[in-house]
Amino acid sequence: MTQRELIAEWTLQPGTGKAIEVKAGQILRIEQVEGGQCVDFNAFNLHDYKEFMHCGRTRTVHGFNPTTGTFMWSAPPRERAMFYILADTVRQNDVLFPRCSAYVYESTYGFRTHTNCHDIQAEAQREYGLTPDDVHDSFNFFMVTEVQTGGTVRISRQDTRPGDHVELLAMIDTLAIPNVCGADVMRTSNFFLKPVKVQVLQASAQDLAKVPTVPPRASQRTPKDFLNPVIKADRALQKDPGYEPRFLNTPLTVTDVEIELDDEELALLRGYEHARLYRGDDAATLRDVFFSWWEQRFVTSPNGAPTVASGD
Ligand SMILES: [Zn+2]
Repeated sequence: MTQRELIAEWTLQPGTGKAIEVKAGQILRIEQVEGGQCVDFNAFNLHDYKEFMHCGRTRTVHGFNPTTGTFMWSAPPRERAMFYILADTVRQNDVLFPRCSAYVYESTYGFRTHTNCHDIQAEAQREYGLTPDDVHDSFNFFMVTEVQTGGTVRISRQDTRPGDHVELLAMIDTLAIPNVCGADVMRTSNFFLKPVKVQVLQASAQDLAKVPTVPPRASQRTPKDFLNPVIKADRALQKDPGYEPRFLNTPLTVTDVEIELDDEELALLRGYEHARLYRGDDAATLRDVFFSWWEQRFVTSPNGAPTVASGD
């Protein structure tokens, strides 16, 4: 297929969101109508909602502001690429902030009721039988954030225009839920809520050719690998009297390795920039030096996926 085919289209009004089936090989396009609107986003594996898009995993791999050429990952232990970001005309998205919620608007602003991303997501997800507890951390499109000295995060106004858009290519069958962020009293959407357009398109061959290969890993697990593959259907937590712990690789063993250093090497080691953390424990300092070197030498990230380089 050389051309994209439009499958469906919606305009989401302020205060709303929409649960949309986006199958593998289809593109979800989210577009500014007036400009200046943040769009929060949740996503699940369409065939198993326990696998969901994980902002923590995604920001670990791609940083705080993922854009074109990166993936959205599902949570461990599945850790699959759910979407590939094919296009992003603004290149300003956020995976640091959680969705805004009723609590935020009441506690900070004094509103007893206020449109908010959590409640919008919950209501949109209800169309597929999910509950407010199933809403997860959102990927925030067009949200401008920056980490400041000291670790706080600052939200800034955005400079998006009509027609600015992101395009997400689904790598697996998904239920994708974009919503118009309800933050009209913050800088997030320049203090006013606007509609956004969403489309589902069939990807062209050229689109598919842009996606880097994501090699499968033995550590990626699905329910067939779980000791408990059953989804819990009731809410109360009760102890399983038959439970026997089966922790991986336990008991863990420690092997001492003898390393000889001459005076010059020992002086270098004790002068190492992080040595003070170990308060004179040379072995601990040497472990730090060794693993720091190993990390620099062998940990690389082709295709956006963390990996360890083979070779010398
Ligand atoms: Zn919001």
